[in-house]
Amino acid sequence: MGGMDLGRWYFEKLKRKLGDGNQTKFWDHAWVGGEPLKVSFPRLYHLSNNREATVGESGRWEGGSWVWELKWRRDIREREREAVSSLTSIIANFCPSAGIKDGWEWTEAADGKYTTKSAYDVIKSRRNENTHHTADNWRVAAVWKTPAPHKSAVTAWRLLRNRLLTCDNLRKRGVLLREEDQVCQQCNDQEETGSHLFTTCAKAQEIWDEIQKWCGINMARPASTAMHWEMFSHCGKNKKVRRLLQMIWIGCVWMLWKKRNERIFEGKESVVGDFIQEIKARTWGWNRTFGVVDIDMNFVSWSSNDLISRLV
Ligand SMILES: [Zn+2]
Repeated sequence: MGGMDLGRWYFEKLKRKLGDGNQTKFWDHAWVGGEPLKVSFPRLYHLSNNREATVGESGRWEGGSWVWELKWRRDIREREREAVSSLTSIIANFCPSAGIKDGWEWTEAADGKYTTKSAYDVIKSRRNENTHHTADNWRVAAVWKTPAPHKSAVTAWRLLRNRLLTCDNLRKRGVLLREEDQVCQQCNDQEETGSHLFTTCAKAQEIWDEIQKWCGINMARPASTAMHWEMFSHCGKNKKVRRLLQMIWIGCVWMLWKKRNERIFEGKESVVGDFIQEIKARTWGWNRTFGVVDIDMNFVSWSSNDLISRLV
């Protein structure tokens, strides 16, 4: 998982809060990495022999040290090994503390609550450790400043850092894929890379054309995802509108990734019209919750074409 480095810094902020693990569900609760493990590792969740296990039941003490024991319904296959080793290295940093009740907090924020802003500060303070730059840091950093939900910001962030597990990245990590599995499942034509899947693929372009019509922006076709992010944001005339466009962009990227996974893992196909409706509804909800622009705008007004022309 591209989340490995995320996992490392999350755990550093969380580890002291780990109790005996008896009230925390291993797969269901967000006890590591900011989201439930069943969300980060859906395939492994399905493979688990005990999806209901608590953290405390997922290992045992052996001569004073904690040993994780995850049981699977069958043998782990070659293509699942990457995920297993990511999961293992994330949880290897945790061990339950006997006699202490579970009660985790995000220690970075003053009130103990996890916030995107505090996560961003951690990333910022550790940026020098990152060696692979695909877009300038400050540009990518804007991802954390939009009101998009954390999970979608994480997807966009990974994408912009070229850390999403698209086929090309899987191959770079030594995961062997059959030739037919490397082809973009949207168009069945080209190799699946981040820039292809989200930006240059004909199917992705079809979606972006609709999104642009909705937002009321006009721009040239970008050649890469980093360029796309940049160009799309800059169609906003002021900071507020730019932030709104960034939120929409993140929402789209997150949904494209979600649909891509549903297509591959569940064989579900989605229709462009439904996709557009869903993204309009979701982003309307996000805006109502986190308020970038006028939150009293009704859904009809929000979802009509030329959205940004109605914003001051
Ligand atoms: Zn394609």
